Amino acid sequence: MLTLLWRLLIFIAAIFMIRAFLAMIFGGGQIRKRDGSSKRAGEPEAKKMVKDPVCGMYMDPRLALHLKERGGDFYFCSEECRRKFLSGTSAHP
Ligand SMILES: [Zn+2]
Repeated sequence: MLTLLWRLLIFIAAIFMIRAFLAMIFGGGQIRKRDGSSKRAGEPEAKKMVKDPVCGMYMDPRLALHLKERGGDFYFCSEECRRKFLSGTSAHP
C-alpha cells in the first residue's frame, strides 16, 4: 500500500520534471513569440495617416483640418494649406 503511494508520487514527480524540462525548451520559444507579438501590438499605433494634398505632409486625421470637396475627403495640416487648396482649385490665383 505504502509502496504503491510512493510509486505514484515518483510518477507524478517524474511528470512534473518532464513538464518543467519541456517548458524550459518550448518556454524560450514562447517568450520569443511574445516579444514578436508585442512588436506587432506596437504597430497599430501607427494608425491610418492622411495626406495633405498641398504640402504633402502625412498626419493623423483627428488632428487634421477636414474638408469635403466634390465627394472627396481632404485633410490639411493647417488653415493656410486649406486656403491654398481652395484658392488653387476653385478660384484663379
Ligand atoms: Zn499642409
